Amino acid sequence: MKKIFFSILLFSSLQPAFASADNNIIDSAEITLSTAIDTVPFVLDEEEMMDYNDSLVSFPAYDLYCGWDTVNIHSIKFDVASLKDSTKNIVLFDEKSCGYVHPFEGKITSTFGPRKKRYHYGVDIDLETGDCVAAAFDGKVRIAKKSKSYGNVIVIRHANGLETYYAHLSKINVEIGQEVFAGQVIGLGGNTGRSRGSHLHFEVRYMGQPLNPSQLISFDQHKLLSDTLTLSSKTFNYLSEAKKAAAKSYSAKGGKGKIYVVKKGDTLSAIAKKYGTTTKALCQKNGIKPTAKLRLGQKIKT
Ligand SMILES: [Zn+2]
Repeated sequence: MKKIFFSILLFSSLQPAFASADNNIIDSAEITLSTAIDTVPFVLDEEEMMDYNDSLVSFPAYDLYCGWDTVNIHSIKFDVASLKDSTKNIVLFDEKSCGYVHPFEGKITSTFGPRKKRYHYGVDIDLETGDCVAAAFDGKVRIAKKSKSYGNVIVIRHANGLETYYAHLSKINVEIGQEVFAGQVIGLGGNTGRSRGSHLHFEVRYMGQPLNPSQLISFDQHKLLSDTLTLSSKTFNYLSEAKKAAAKSYSAKGGKGKIYVVKKGDTLSAIAKKYGTTTKALCQKNGIKPTAKLRLGQKIKT
């Protein structure tokens, strides 16, 4: 049988250096990006290759993500700058789908936005451990695992490119790759991971970039605000606020063990400002003079 050689690109994850359920830090200066792409040779016959191609098409929004990462919770980050002055419409409801079902009808205990120390990228819904948590939309389970910060977490990818996250569960009832429909019980609420008290941490992301769930869902009426969601650069205005919160949290931790790598255009005063410290303190920590010229790639203890 004729053999066809081809390769699969494995997209490695963009793994934040310190991320948590409620704080997936976006600031590129503070995350370690592992961007290596590995090429793994495969040998498949024609029939197997057809199956392979079919299987890719069956992943929701594959054309958008060009991948299906079942290991890393955050595997891709949408480039907000690509929106510029344009908008992107995301259909939330159409006749073919089961529509929207509220994951759990409970009281909101924390909204999307800045917190004391870190940014909160989801909405917390109060529940009792063991309460049923439902999938918000139809989709396919991409992640179903235990994470240090999210606890037992499920991530579902939807055909429109959105992903919904359900964290701190006491039990996961679904498997990776499983098709689910809106309203299906996917797990039970709990208090696992970095969580204080039973609640559901619910996130909505577009290509890894968090969205404020209140922009599409009424948490009072437990329904969609509209059948369509329009993404624009405004949708992501919160990012500058989130960066500040990340820097604040970073400086509150004293930058312990964290190293900043100098980039083009950096100055000591700008780095100091970013980490809530002073040029003098930076100089003392690094044994350099305030007038020292920074080198690209130079490592600065913050
Ligand atoms: Zn939360």
